Amino acid sequence: MTPMADGRYLRGELKWADPVHPVFLAQEVATGAEKWAWCLAETATKGLGTDERRMLAHLVRRALLAVPPRLGIPWLGAEWVGFEGGTLWWVTDAIPGAVRLDETSVTLDTLERDRWAQRLLLIIEQWHAHGWIHGDVTPRAVFLDEDGRPWLGGMGVARNWLADRLDQDDLTDPTPEGRDRRRMHLPSRDLFALAALLDGLHPPTGPDALTPWRALDPAVRPVNAMQARSAWAFESVPPSLPTWRHLDAIRVALQDLKFARRECPACGDVLEDPKPAKANTCPVCLAGRWSAYQAREGMCPACQTGVLRHRTTSKRRPACPECDRGLLIKTKTGWKCAWCHAQPDTGTLTERELFICEDCDQALAPAADKTWQLGPDGDAWTMREWAELAATGEMGLGNGMCPKCDARGHTENGYFTLLSPLTGSGYERGYSLRALRKDIVPWVAVGQTTANPGLVCRSGDVEFDTTPQGLKLVRAESNPIAEHLGQIHDLGTWHRIARDLPTAEEEDDLEELFNDALRLAYGQGELGLDGEANALCWSGRAVWVKDGHRRSGTLRITPDRIQFRGWLRRHMGLVSQLKGMDFDGERLFVMWRESEADWEFEVTPIRWNLVLPSGRRKLELTASDLARRFAVPERSRPG
Ligand SMILES: [Zn+2]
Ligand SMILES: [Zn+2]
Ligand SMILES: [Zn+2]
Ligand SMILES: [Zn+2]
Repeated sequence: MTPMADGRYLRGELKWADPVHPVFLAQEVATGAEKWAWCLAETATKGLGTDERRMLAHLVRRALLAVPPRLGIPWLGAEWVGFEGGTLWWVTDAIPGAVRLDETSVTLDTLERDRWAQRLLLIIEQWHAHGWIHGDVTPRAVFLDEDGRPWLGGMGVARNWLADRLDQDDLTDPTPEGRDRRRMHLPSRDLFALAALLDGLHPPTGPDALTPWRALDPAVRPVNAMQARSAWAFESVPPSLPTWRHLDAIRVALQDLKFARRECPACGDVLEDPKPAKANTCPVCLAGRWSAYQAREGMCPACQTGVLRHRTTSKRRPACPECDRGLLIKTKTGWKCAWCHAQPDTGTLTERELFICEDCDQALAPAADKTWQLGPDGDAWTMREWAELAATGEMGLGNGMCPKCDARGHTENGYFTLLSPLTGSGYERGYSLRALRKDIVPWVAVGQTTANPGLVCRSGDVEFDTTPQGLKLVRAESNPIAEHLGQIHDLGTWHRIARDLPTAEEEDDLEELFNDALRLAYGQGELGLDGEANALCWSGRAVWVKDGHRRSGTLRITPDRIQFRGWLRRHMGLVSQLKGMDFDGERLFVMWRESEADWEFEVTPIRWNLVLPSGRRKLELTASDLARRFAVPERSRPG
């Protein structure tokens, strides 16, 4: 057993193997309670620069401090975080009898799946509330307790940064963002991962409540856990058949389709062909000049203005017998320890050293792992880290900043990582905490996230790459266009898609659908020969057939009457007396409710000339259309 955290815990054997965050069994000394000790594995950071490694460890530390454990939230947050022997460690509660989800074959029914979703959303929401992305909602980070309830542990902060920095695909990452390293990382990435996780345990049979969480473009998923929860009740309604009116409106819109040469199909703003930002321009505000910190060792981290002076024991500065670390300073009232502030009567000459600030008298005493501690209850960091803290005011914010917008970041080995801010509307939206190659950063800063030439909307909602075949949509933040991510079309087609209009190839289908819809509207009595006036149902040549005799004439039907005029002969019936009509090829049967025998005709198809908002339209109507319009109601048909 190895003591940790000044003897607060004892660390034992490996509990959960993992290449980035292995977990060890641990025990809290005071209570004997079982704990888990996690670390950022040294092997995972092989090949990185010393400062990069430290930056990454501080990043994980920042995330752990930002999202602490909370009652009622099934998240294995850190109750202690610190460096031991140069490695970042943190200690969480242990789950008795736990199994890790990737080592089980659990399946869920619908009810259980919904419970899991609600439970895990609680944690994801905590992360998002602080501007962080969990980034590893995968079976290897989910632990089941003895009652089979899921707990989330671990995090993707380091995993994702390492995947970017070392350009290594993480095969267990189910998200589209995880497979394509140029894409934005937004909180909705966690929702995609959660939906994928739940689908793995309860395969859906069709579109369901989780489907919108899995939209390809993160910008059209629910934005965060809160929105996802409120959208939970969402039920997809099957689209109804388009009516002729709807299709007519589409045809009108197609005729009216106009757009400027460089118009954004999604929002109407201008599509630009932006030049990458100038080297060393701040990618966040695009105005400030990125500058490296002047982190000078020896600046006081407490007041940030004083200079630290190295002092060792002497007769004028004897050692403090109380804390065994500080040096005593002579004051008006006697000796006082610069480090623990004790006031002993006398000191010793045992060898001690201390850094004391000339301005504020704060003192740093040597501690474990070549670190220096600020006062008995203070933090212990290396002198290099104290210098960083003195220069930046906060630990782990990298080695550079923008004086204009106060963005912070780390540049090393040709990679840039934006460390602050975490949220906003520029580069930081989707690219903070990402290791991006330095030559890519100026492109991403102007919205060209693929770093390929192309068009970007001035309001930032759409990005196209230029390809020989046309414009490839690589980013879109609104539907319907976002559903077509990855497709290549010319700008005209993109405008059609954005307005939910058929493409040129789909227009033939539209015409066919339109004819069907018009015929249906005629059959349902919604449109007449005279269109929407609907005062004439039929008018055309017909042959009256009775007892082997045939007589030619005209059949004319209005909403009230059915008339046949032949040479010397007329027949008239009221529609209100009609039982219904039936047909067989060109033969039409008119059946009456009472007394009268059925009428039988041979009907010549007629031309239906319509004048509609989208223009003139010619269709042919036959006996079958007419018979459908006056069909015998289902229930009164003889069985
Ligand atoms: Zn736009
Ligand atoms: Zn800036
Ligand atoms: Zn002391
Ligand atoms: Zn000071």
